Amino acid sequence: MPPDGKLRAFVAIDVSPEIRDALAAARGELADLPWAGDVRWVRAENQHLTLRFLGDVERSFCVELVRELERRVAEVPVFDLSLVGLVAFPSARRPRVIAAGVEDDAPVTQLARAVEAAVVAAGGEAEERRFRPHITLGRFRKPPRGKIDLAGREVAPVTMSVCEAVLLRSELDPNGAKYSTLGRVALGTGVD
Ligand code: ATP
Ligand code: MG
Repeated sequence: MPPDGKLRAFVAIDVSPEIRDALAAARGELADLPWAGDVRWVRAENQHLTLRFLGDVERSFCVELVRELERRVAEVPVFDLSLVGLVAFPSARRPRVIAAGVEDDAPVTQLARAVEAAVVAAGGEAEERRFRPHITLGRFRKPPRGKIDLAGREVAPVTMSVCEAVLLRSELDPNGAKYSTLGRVALGTGVD
C-alpha cells in the first residue's frame, strides 16, 4: 500500500480491442518457448502503453496534473499508433519484460514530452530516463537463463488512432494490478 493519503499512478494510452487481440495472438505464438512459463502475462484489460510512471503521489497532485495535461496534451495532434515487432526489455540478454514495439516513435514521443511537461508544471520531479515506447505483454518472474531468442515471432501489424491519454491509478495485487481511471485528456484535433 502506498503511504497514507497517496496513490500509485501513471499516465498511459489505453489500447484498442484490435491491439488487445493482436497482443493475445502474439502471446499465443510465444507459448512454446522454453521460458514462457516464467512469464507473468499482462491481462488483456490491463494492456496499455505507459507514457509516464508517477509512483506514489498525492491526490491533490493528480488533480493539478489533470489540469496541466488538459492544456498540454490538447496541443499534440491525434496520431496513429502501429505495432511492430516483439522485443525484450531492457535487452535480450537480461530481459525483464516481453513487449510489442511501436512503428514510429516520433508522435508518441511528442505526446510523452507533453505529459512530462505537465508533470513538471504540476510540481513533479523530472524523469531522467529516456522514453522507450512499448506495450508490455508480460514480465519475467525470474530472469531466464541465457539470451532469449524472439526470431520469427511476430505481432500482427495493427494500427489505432490515439485520441486521448489517461491517468490511471494502480493498486498492486498478487493476481495482477488493478487499474482505475482518474482522468482522461483529449489530444488535439487540429480544429480550434
Ligand atoms: P505489477 O507490478 O504487479 O506487475 P504493473 O506493472 O502492471 O503490475 P505498476 O507496477 O503499478 O503495475 O505499473 C504501472 C505501469 O507503470 C506499468 O506499465 C509499468 O510497466 C510502469 N512502471 C512501473 N514502475 C515503473 C518504473 N519504476 N519506471 C517506469 N515505468 C514503471
Ligand atoms: Mg510493475
